[in-house]
Amino acid sequence: MNNQKCCPTFAPFVQTLKNYILVHDLGYECLNIGAANISGLEIIKDKFETNEEYPLKWNSGYNYAQNKIFDFGDVEAYLSHEFLHAFTRLVNDKISLVGFFRETENYNFFFGLNEGYTELLNKRIFNNYTRTHYDLFLDIIRIIEFMFDDYRDMERSYFTCNPFYIYQNFCKYGTKSEFVYLCEQLDIMAKTRIEEKQVTNLKNMLYDIIKENNIMNYEFEMALDDKHFTKRKVS
Ligand SMILES: [Zn+2]
Repeated sequence: MNNQKCCPTFAPFVQTLKNYILVHDLGYECLNIGAANISGLEIIKDKFETNEEYPLKWNSGYNYAQNKIFDFGDVEAYLSHEFLHAFTRLVNDKISLVGFFRETENYNFFFGLNEGYTELLNKRIFNNYTRTHYDLFLDIIRIIEFMFDDYRDMERSYFTCNPFYIYQNFCKYGTKSEFVYLCEQLDIMAKTRIEEKQVTNLKNMLYDIIKENNIMNYEFEMALDDKHFTKRKVS
């Protein structure tokens, strides 16, 4: 991956992310998807255009069809979040994949799951703890991550645009319909205002699923600790 080719604003992000992927041995495939987008990535200093499906107005956003980041407020944490979207974009004329998000002519799904996990990685990789719209999601995302025996596998799935592994890991504990319900709720929440009550309901659902499966309490509580999770290192 050649830093010279990318817009200078993103050069530090490229370096940090590249190091992260290499140090944690996530695999070259993760770098290849990113490299294909970064050279043509543009930054537009404007609000992100919204449409009827996304009723909120955003100070930043990523247009994956055009590979353009919109940035209005110049907040580094927003910019690195959008950068992660650009880094995980795999688009052809039949399907658009961005991290876990997928869209075809007939459906789009995993929008909320992708936003929440992107924000988790934004904090973990770039050490930037500015609050964002998706912070309320983080507890839910942490529980999903906890369902992986090795959480690096979830990172690998993200960087290779493959939500299938999440489904597989979730189904070690919960059912297919619980998984679909969870992802649908996350989609709704990400596209509208996030209410604490919705978050609590989903967390409770996940707690119950986990409890039924006898995951050690202590280990689980540890996993929900903010610093432990977002800054989690290989022990
Ligand atoms: Zn986002």
